[in-house]
Amino acid sequence: MLRVMSISVAEAREQVAWVSRRLAEERLVHGSAGNASVRAGDLVAITPTGSVLAELVPGDVVVVDLDGTVVEGGAPSSELELNLGVYQRYDAGAVVHCHAPLATALSTIVDELPWIHYELMLLGGPVRVAPYATFGSTELAANVLAALEGRTAALMANHGAITYGDDIRQALERTLLLEWLCEVYWRAAAAGEPRLLSERELAAAAAAFDRQRSIVDMSG
Ligand SMILES: [Zn+2]
Repeated sequence: MLRVMSISVAEAREQVAWVSRRLAEERLVHGSAGNASVRAGDLVAITPTGSVLAELVPGDVVVVDLDGTVVEGGAPSSELELNLGVYQRYDAGAVVHCHAPLATALSTIVDELPWIHYELMLLGGPVRVAPYATFGSTELAANVLAALEGRTAALMANHGAITYGDDIRQALERTLLLEWLCEVYWRAAAAGEPRLLSERELAAAAAAFDRQRSIVDMSG
């Protein structure tokens, strides 16, 4: 069953422009380095290539079908294949890719962001670092899609980060969470050897999340 609610193409274009400006405000993107997309049924609204994300308006946003054929607008982001791959392989409503500073820095020194904090559960577990390949390449898309297995976030070696969600707000929240986790790891590792959570601690945290979820479900 598709969890994702279908929205109109016009709403999807507005959301892509909104999240692009938010990413710039949060200093998670600089210039045109990053992209975002939102699915609207069989179509995807995506940032255009080379656009300044801080200034993006809905009319700039490109619309493509799930095969990547442009339906409306100019040339889509160079990471079109990666964005479309996430929709084809995972049940996503929106994708955010950026070159956030701490995530990008960490992607150059680790193979995985390990269990430093229980909030990693909100991303599906330790975040893998997809092996490096040239931006916009089929190889990069394949590496990143594999790293996302069972996760909603991945780091991209010597490149940046990607998250997806049911909708654009969730995808953005996960990008913000990932950048925070990368900063925590970075600061901890700079001062010493970060202690990782044990299996017992993780099982207890998972049970606590389940209890919290059941309370939320009952209330609404
Ligand atoms: Zn990139």
